[in-house]
Amino acid sequence: MKNKKMTKKIIAAVIAFMIIFSAIGCEAQSANGGGTTANGEATSFTPTVAPNTSAPDVTSAPTVETTAPDETTVPDVTTATPETTLTPETTLTPETTLTPETTTAPTEETTEAPHVHTPETVKGTAATCTKDGLTDGVRCATCKATLTAQTKIEATGHSYTVTKQPNVDPYSADFAADGEKTCGSCGKTVAVKAQAPAIDSEEYARLLANRLLYYINLIRVEEGNLPAQMLPNMTEYAEYRAVQLSTNFAHDSDDETAAATALQYGKYFEVEESYMDMDIFNATGEVVIVYTGNILKGYTADCGEAICKGGHRVSVFGNDINYLDKTARETAEAYHESEGHWSYIGRDENVFISIGFYIDIENEWSYNCVCTSPSDIYG
Ligand SMILES: [Zn+2]
Ligand SMILES: [Zn+2]
Repeated sequence: MKNKKMTKKIIAAVIAFMIIFSAIGCEAQSANGGGTTANGEATSFTPTVAPNTSAPDVTSAPTVETTAPDETTVPDVTTATPETTLTPETTLTPETTLTPETTTAPTEETTEAPHVHTPETVKGTAATCTKDGLTDGVRCATCKATLTAQTKIEATGHSYTVTKQPNVDPYSADFAADGEKTCGSCGKTVAVKAQAPAIDSEEYARLLANRLLYYINLIRVEEGNLPAQMLPNMTEYAEYRAVQLSTNFAHDSDDETAAATALQYGKYFEVEESYMDMDIFNATGEVVIVYTGNILKGYTADCGEAICKGGHRVSVFGNDINYLDKTARETAEAYHESEGHWSYIGRDENVFISIGFYIDIENEWSYNCVCTSPSDIYG
């Protein structure tokens, strides 16, 4: 923009100059050529200039001044020249004077004794758990040249130790509560989720059984009765029964005897096999017991038994400990709501209750057997 304006001004000045020059030139010609106006008329300007310039050359000067508008542009051009003097002001020159400064350094080096580096330590930074660090480096104290570069030290990562175990105690009110782990380096704490054992493990079934007893006891105590406790042998029996229930969900005395006998749990019996002779009964109406001489031996579990099955959504919840908790609570509620079952599960004297669970993972069912006894005679 500025340049355009300037060139315009320059052009105007040149034109003005040319006009002046041509006017002067014309008069000079006309003076030399013996005053032929034809020459003067040849240029368009001469008519206006010519009448005045019949006078001496000096008068031609004022006439030039009458074409002043053109000439006034000339001073403008002169003001433009200071503007061009701005260019040195653009500090381009100071910048270039920087180069001489740097060139003075090598000349010093070459003129003086060869430079010997003075090593100085560049302090590094230690890596933290989450941020990389730097090793110590070495540079020249004088010329700042890097003598030993600093290298990256990888972030160490947190080193957690469990400072609070998650709560997996089935008899506690805040069962399944998160634990906590703390980083020994930076002190950061992170929650540790409570986890149930694998769904297909005995531990899972036992945790569920114990949690069920916890909920049963809550109700027992609420009703003014003593809380019950499990017995190891009776628990084994209950667990055995739970597996049987998955294929035969019934209070089947044959199954019960088979379970007790397999585990040698309960009351031992030895009886001679016998049957009623139906032929005699039908003919005479007399009851005749026939003994075969075959001795039957086995065990009878001397306890009460409540059984329950329920859907267990393994595919959805897996071994989610909160789902385990929910299953236990809902099973206790179901037993409580069934008068027939609660009559002995909730009975005050039945202070021994053993529970066995079996999870049929494939079919997504859970089976449980709750054995009750007032006595711990069989353990
Ligand atoms: Zn150096
Ligand atoms: Zn840390």
